[in-house]
Amino acid sequence: MPASKHTPIRTCVACRTAAPKRGLMRVVRTPEGTVVVDPMGKMAGRGAYLCRNLSCVQAALKGKKLERSLKVALPAETAQVLLQMAAQAEKEVTRS
Ligand SMILES: [Zn+2]
Repeated sequence: MPASKHTPIRTCVACRTAAPKRGLMRVVRTPEGTVVVDPMGKMAGRGAYLCRNLSCVQAALKGKKLERSLKVALPAETAQVLLQMAAQAEKEVTRS
């Protein structure tokens, strides 16, 4: 798939694979200093990216890669959302 200049490429913090931004999950450090999942990719703040799969989410959580990238603690709630989104994405892949 050729990447056009209109497709921003981002790197997964867990596996370091570069992929089009819309294929990844975006996690954002908000100006308030917390970390949330940004499903639309539109929120302001420093972002980190993860593949939509459980192995990358689990590797990122285990290795504290989001914390390291964003330099702030990852709330357990946000970790749960990431795990749910990845599980959902894997279900969709299996179904198709
Ligand atoms: Zn990955």
